Amino acid sequence: MLEVRDLRVAYGNIEALHGISLTVAEGEIVTLIGANGAGKSTTLRAVSGLVRARSGQILFEGHDITRIPAHRIVALGIGHVPEGRKIFTDMTVQENLELGAYIADPRRFREDLEAVFERFPRLRERRRQSAATLSGGEQQMLALGRALMLRPRLLLLDEPSMGLSPRLVEEIFAIIVALNRAGTTVLLVEQNAAMALSIAHRAYVLETGRVVLEGPAKELRNHP
Ligand code: ADP
Ligand code: ADP
Repeated sequence: MLEVRDLRVAYGNIEALHGISLTVAEGEIVTLIGANGAGKSTTLRAVSGLVRARSGQILFEGHDITRIPAHRIVALGIGHVPEGRKIFTDMTVQENLELGAYIADPRRFREDLEAVFERFPRLRERRRQSAATLSGGEQQMLALGRALMLRPRLLLLDEPSMGLSPRLVEEIFAIIVALNRAGTTVLLVEQNAAMALSIAHRAYVLETGRVVLEGPAKELRNHP
């Protein structure tokens, strides 16, 4: 479904990715793990078109994303939930969910809203509340729900567990597994490697802009 080939990305003079290659097959959960600054978020940003490749290819179902404008990448079926819960705190929960989805397709949007509320009962209860009143965990659910409104087939998740209590991390991870079982392919960036490896099929370990290790999550779980 996704094939990244020798991807190089730089921020100004700082080269963040020195030739990353990876694949994600349809139906998989693949995780990128590694220390802070290794290039995990940059890889996701490149796949969603938020940063441009210096060189290399990013093939999504045959389309080279490095040649497609960012606003068209969403329409291909790639959803990105960036780090830090980018939600609109001056809007209600429901308004946050309506935002991009109504523009994308007004006809199916009621149905999609209902599907998100089915998956996140906490959001349904708080639909008329300001998003600012949500806890950290609920904000993460809202950020995820917003991405789901656009019916992504590949979901890019950047540190969904960040700053959450262990109970909420379990809850978010259970939701990711359920989404995957329902057919969504997932590329997951996580600091919490143990958690990520517990749900992923395969993993890539990044270090300073390079892949240093890859394999089935089962095998990497036992790696020191
Ligand atoms: P990770 O997600 O693994 O923590 P990042 O992809 O965020 O790593 O960062 C990779 C490298 O790129 C780091 O050296 C980081 O300092 C640099 N970097 C990340 N974002 C920016 C940015 N917006 N501007 C400049 N440098 C950045
Ligand atoms: P919960 O009760 O769901 O655990 P909290 O509101 O206590 O959530 O926040 C948990 C953590 O999430 C805190 O470390 C907080 O800084 C962080 N957090 C809360 N809101 C945001 C946000 N909008 N963006 C990024 N981090 C957040």
